[in-house]
Amino acid sequence: MKSGICPKCQSDQVYSGAAIALKKGPFGSNAVPISLTSIAALDNYICKACGYVESYVADADKLEEIAVKWEPVGPFEKKPAPEKD
Ligand SMILES: [Zn+2]
Repeated sequence: MKSGICPKCQSDQVYSGAAIALKKGPFGSNAVPISLTSIAALDNYICKACGYVESYVADADKLEEIAVKWEPVGPFEKKPAPEKD
């Protein structure tokens, strides 16, 4: 999508909201909650032809915070669970 081609319909009518002001939106509506005290604004890419939306977190510090605070998903090796005594 960032390349300007829609992955769903292959249209080249892709628009980016990555540079707009107030990206977080009212009440953080265009953001992902990371924890009780932290949110990450989203950069949205929208296809004019089919309406498909893709969103990205661009802030590198927020991505690092997510990697620490969120549970990993997927085939890669997971962190060992904390030992209980
Ligand atoms: Zn499309």
